[in-house]
Amino acid sequence: MEATRRRTQPSANGKTSEQSEEPAQWGRAWEVDWFSLISVIGLLCFAPFIVFYFVMACDQYQCSVSQPLFELLRGETLLLSIWARTASFTWSAAKIYTIWVAFQAFLYMCVPDITHKFIPGYVGGVQDGALTPAGLVNKYQINGLQCWLITHALWYANANFFHWFSPTIIFDNWIPLMWCANILGYAVATFAFIKAYLFPTNSEDCKFTGNLFYDYMMGIEFNPRIGEWFDFKLFFNGRPGIIAWTLINLSYMAKQQELYSQVTNSMILVNVLQAIYVLDFFWNEAWYLKTIDICHDHFGWYLGWGDCVWLPYLYTLQGLYLVYHPVQLSDAHALAVLLFGLVGYYIFRSTNHQKDLFRRTEGSCSIWGRKPTFIECLYRSADGVVHRSKLMTSGFWGVARHLNYTGDLMGSLAYCAACGFGHMLPYFYIVYMTILLVHRCVRDEHRCSSKYGKDWKCYTDAVPYRLIPGVF
Ligand code: NDP
Repeated sequence: MEATRRRTQPSANGKTSEQSEEPAQWGRAWEVDWFSLISVIGLLCFAPFIVFYFVMACDQYQCSVSQPLFELLRGETLLLSIWARTASFTWSAAKIYTIWVAFQAFLYMCVPDITHKFIPGYVGGVQDGALTPAGLVNKYQINGLQCWLITHALWYANANFFHWFSPTIIFDNWIPLMWCANILGYAVATFAFIKAYLFPTNSEDCKFTGNLFYDYMMGIEFNPRIGEWFDFKLFFNGRPGIIAWTLINLSYMAKQQELYSQVTNSMILVNVLQAIYVLDFFWNEAWYLKTIDICHDHFGWYLGWGDCVWLPYLYTLQGLYLVYHPVQLSDAHALAVLLFGLVGYYIFRSTNHQKDLFRRTEGSCSIWGRKPTFIECLYRSADGVVHRSKLMTSGFWGVARHLNYTGDLMGSLAYCAACGFGHMLPYFYIVYMTILLVHRCVRDEHRCSSKYGKDWKCYTDAVPYRLIPGVF
C-alpha cells in the first residue's frame, strides 16, 4: 500500500482556501545557527559518555554520581582504571541482543494486528499517518500492543514454566548489552544518513540543511522505510526500546528478589508507574502517529541512537538504582508518590486525548461538557497546496499550551521520588525530562509559528502560558 497524496478540498463557500488570504509557509527552511550546531556536536560527542557514566557509576560506585568525579579530581583513580574495571563487549550479549531485535522485527513485520478485533476501544491494524510537508499520507501497521503482549507473555512463561533463561538476564548483561545497543544505534543512524542520499523513500520529504553534522544528528529523511512496511521511526521509537523498558524493570525486580529475597515497595511503584506509561503508549500507538516524533522529526542519530541507547539505559535508572539501594518507603510516602504519579498521568493522558478527539472530529465534540472553542488557521505545504487547521483554546489546551508535558513531568518526578532521597542519580530523569520537554516546547512553538504565522500569534494571545499557568 502506498502513501497517498492529498489535495485541499473546496471550503463551504465554494472557494478553495488558496483563494482566500495568504497563509504561512510550512516547509523546511531551517537554518542551522551556531547554537544548534554547537549543541549537535556537543550531543554527538558527549551523549554516549553520559549514558556510560551513569551506568558505570551504578556498577562501580553504588550509584554515586559524585564519587567517580571526586576520585578522578583527587587523583585517586584514573579514567583508564575505570575503563579497565568496566565489563566489555561479549558475544553472549551480542547473541541476546541480536535475538531480541530480530524477534521484535519479526513481530513488527510478520504478525499483523488482531488485537483490535477483540479488544473494545483499541485502534490497531493499518492506520493513516499525518500529512507530511510534501503532501503525503503514509500507512502504518499498528501492532505495538500485540507485540508488547506477546513479548511479556513469553517473559512470564519463561520465568514461571520454561526457564530457558534467568529473569535477571538483562541486569546480568547490562554493560555488555550497552555496547551492542550502541553498535545498533550508530549503525542505524549511519545507514539512514547514507540511504537518504542514495535511495530515499520519498525524496520530496528529505531535508538537507547543508550541514553534515546537523543532518546526521537530526536526520534527512522524514519517513525512511524498507519495503512497504518497515518504517524506521515507528519501529525504533516503539520497539525495541519501549517494549524493553518494562522487561528491563522486571529484570531489576527479579535481581532485587535474588539479592535480598524480597522486592521493595519502591521497586513495585517504579514498575507499576512506568508500566502504565508504556502500556498507554502502545494502547495509543495510532495516536502516536500524530505526535511530533512521527509528524515532524526526521530520522537521524537523535531518534535512531536515542531509541536504542538513551531511552533503555537512562529511562530505567530508577529500577537500576533500586537494585543497588533497595529502598523501602513508608506507607505515606509510597501513597503520596503513587497519587502524584497518577494525577500526572491523568493530566498527560487527558490533554493528549482532548487534542486527538478535537482533531479527529474537527471540533465537533464535547470537551469538559461543552463544544470546544478554537482558532481557524491556514498553512501552505512545500508543494504549494494550502491547508486548513484548527488550534483548540478550551479544555486543557485553554489552560496552557502544553499541559500534556506538565503531566508527563509530574509522572517523571514521581518515578524519581519513589527512590527516596539518598542519592542524586535517580533524579537525573526529571532533570533530563524538564530539559527535553522545555526544549521540545520551544522547538514546537517555533515550528508552529512559522507554519501558522499570525494565526499562531492569535493562539498565544488567547493561551499565554506554555507549561504552568501564571508561571511559564
Ligand atoms: P503534542 O502532542 O503536544 O503535539 C504538538 C502539536 O500539536 C503541535 O505541533 C501542533 O501540531 C498541535 N497543536 C498545538 N497546539 C494545539 C492546539 N491548541 N490544538 C490542536 N492542536 C495543537 O506534542 P508531542 O508530540 O511532543 O507530545 C506528545 C506526547 O508525548 C506528550 O504528552 C509528551 O509529553 C510525550 N512525549 C514523551 C517523551 C518521552 O521521552 N517520555 C518524548 C516526547 C514526547 P500541528 O502542526 O498539527 O498543528
